[in-house]
Amino acid sequence: MKDLIDILELSTDDINGLIKTALDIIENPAKYSEKCKGKKIATLFYEPSTRTRLSFESAMLELGGSVIGFSQASSSSASKGESVADTVRVVSCFADVIAMRHPKEGAPYVAAKYASIPVINAGDGGHNHPTQTLADLLTIYREKGRLDNLTVGFCGDLKYGRTVHSLISALSRYEGIKIALISPDELKVPNYVKEDVLEKNNMPYEETRSLEETMPNLDILYMTRVQQERFSDENEYLRLRDSYILNPEKLKNAKADMCILHPLPRVNEISVAVDDDPRACYFKQVLNGKYMRMALILKLLAEKEAGRAQPLKEEGDLIRGEIKCQNPMCITTIEQELEHVFRLVDKEKGIYRCIYCDSEAKR
Ligand code: ASP
Repeated sequence: MKDLIDILELSTDDINGLIKTALDIIENPAKYSEKCKGKKIATLFYEPSTRTRLSFESAMLELGGSVIGFSQASSSSASKGESVADTVRVVSCFADVIAMRHPKEGAPYVAAKYASIPVINAGDGGHNHPTQTLADLLTIYREKGRLDNLTVGFCGDLKYGRTVHSLISALSRYEGIKIALISPDELKVPNYVKEDVLEKNNMPYEETRSLEETMPNLDILYMTRVQQERFSDENEYLRLRDSYILNPEKLKNAKADMCILHPLPRVNEISVAVDDDPRACYFKQVLNGKYMRMALILKLLAEKEAGRAQPLKEEGDLIRGEIKCQNPMCITTIEQELEHVFRLVDKEKGIYRCIYCDSEAKR
């Protein structure tokens, strides 16, 4: 593979390999300290970030490489109207790998198509965040010793929470996973996650509003922030933002070895009184993210050097230019010259999904 845009581009063998490398980096950091000498990562962040950008940058620095990039769209030529395609063709002349975060869904997919160097999706709108998933998986592995046979509860904003979508996709590859989706009705997971991932893979799942009732069954509780920046109606955000607040009282019904995850930043959905609970793993998750990003950078650069970097393929039953994506968050809404391409996902129902943002269209 050349890029990492969607977590499903990695097989379970790939994920096991990344975990193995990350564990080795933890044990023997000196062995890795010059592995990327002379290499550069470009962090192209069109949207705010603390952890992910600094994590990518620290990852490259700890591998002996260096960092270029920008941390807001206003300091890049995007503010002059430059397209993602042009920006990454330019950056390909300066760097060896790109990590891109963008508010529009599918922007890193477009970047991967045009960049001659590997592109890593560091979060695209409310869509996907595959490297957060790598952090989550290493944390689950280190805490529970396995990635299968787990009951995982996702709580909060499951609609816009991109880390939720990517982690559910990744877990669909493992045996014995049960999913509990805990959210208000307005913030349920999007259909493409429900239909294409949960139902297609026969994963047992329940949708509920009650964290209290679900708590005793969980091995992992994945709390999330209500994603204020994705709401078009501020009052709706204000009404929903305090839907769930995890506190020590609510944890009384949880398993003694349950693991509490959160991709951070936390606003108020986990009270600080929970931080001292041994089940709270969200700060360990941050550190694990850096190790997995180191492992991923090494893998992508090695595959490129070995000539094994397969570019993204637009495969399947595709229709081009016939219908337009209606998702206001899709990259096609701001980059008018992009061709609208849809992939057939359900032949019987005639359902197509946008190749950039996974929004549904019927023919
Ligand atoms: N840091 C995560 C993300 O970028 C979670 C969040 O922002 O709530 O998606």
